[in-house]
Amino acid sequence: MAINENEIAALVKQVLSEMTGSSPVSSAPAYAAPSAPGAIPKTAKVAMMTKLKHFEIQEYPIPEVGDDDILVKVEGCGVCGTDAHEYKNDPFSLIPVVLGHEGTGEIVKMGKNVKADSAGKPLKVGDKVVTCMIFKDNPDITMFDLNKQNVGGADVYGLLPDDNVHLNGWYSDYIFIRGGSTVFNVSDLDLDSRILIEPCAVLVHAVERAKLTNILRFNSRVVVQGCGPIGLICIAVLRTMGIENIVAVDGNEQRLAFAKRMGADNTVNFMNHKGIEALSEAVKAAFGGYYADFAFQCTGSPVAHSNIYHFIRNGGGLCELGFFINGGDATINPHFDLCSKEITLVGSWVYTLRDYATTFDFLKRANAIGLPIKELITHRFKLEDMNEALETNLAQKGLKIAYIAP
Ligand SMILES: [Zn+2]
Repeated sequence: MAINENEIAALVKQVLSEMTGSSPVSSAPAYAAPSAPGAIPKTAKVAMMTKLKHFEIQEYPIPEVGDDDILVKVEGCGVCGTDAHEYKNDPFSLIPVVLGHEGTGEIVKMGKNVKADSAGKPLKVGDKVVTCMIFKDNPDITMFDLNKQNVGGADVYGLLPDDNVHLNGWYSDYIFIRGGSTVFNVSDLDLDSRILIEPCAVLVHAVERAKLTNILRFNSRVVVQGCGPIGLICIAVLRTMGIENIVAVDGNEQRLAFAKRMGADNTVNFMNHKGIEALSEAVKAAFGGYYADFAFQCTGSPVAHSNIYHFIRNGGGLCELGFFINGGDATINPHFDLCSKEITLVGSWVYTLRDYATTFDFLKRANAIGLPIKELITHRFKLEDMNEALETNLAQKGLKIAYIAP
């Protein structure tokens, strides 16, 4: 069968539009196909957490989009460990709340003052976006001096108490982004990659913190302890920056197998080694007879924190990033673990706005070199099934759980 050039061009356009989910740039205005302004409904649905362990689908009118506002049709959102804590115990006293902060979607309407995203990239209806922090109290903070402050000091959509707008989290079919929020145009990333931006930013930040020690270099021997999503992404970030000698430590063979596919050279299953002496010998053997130059601690276990010093050589470095919340006290011996070995230790928590922008490039690199980042999303749920999604997370099934809009 012969195909002429025009047919080939049409086919390429069709394939491209299926890949990107939008109409080809050259043929029509960006807002023509999936997001004609007329298609915006009057109301939006949210999964409102009305009490502990209980989401309820509620419907609210979509407010008038003001000059600085952006209305986004939600495409998907990851379930974070923070959401699981909220679901179980509401430690931040947010109930009633629309959760979901690892979300992404398409701009369907925006105010006349909105011209560019927080990195200066133009924004238009039809663009795919993510949000980061909301700086309503601190508008002076800009993109490139943000290493001053991590997200800990700012508000975030998906962790805001309910108000009269209601469309405040990504577990919804529309989210209402107000002026003063940081927004990024990530139209050049596919949906699964966009859902993984937030957790990946945590690791970009941790590696930036680690680099401050001046110990992490090409050819460094690096141990990553803990192979949940955070540890696995840590391995991927290290690989994309050219670190080759990575040993992953975990107690689960499936996760260790995934760690190898993500770029770990070698793995150690701590279940196979009784006591810290045997375990540290196993890590040393995995590096061919050397202790690690640098270690990333990616579990929330105090024992794991105590253990990891034993995997590091004299003069080595450690980045502790596993304790997103208070997981209790850990015991170390300051003489043997820190002083006499001259360990350089950094802590890391969440990310800065600048790390967020770096993360977009990290994801493109990781996808380009074939790291199975997107396979981290193991479970997908509808908005109506958010209870089940959170229960799946709490049961520690799979890796990343996500809400995917229809
Ligand atoms: Zn999160």
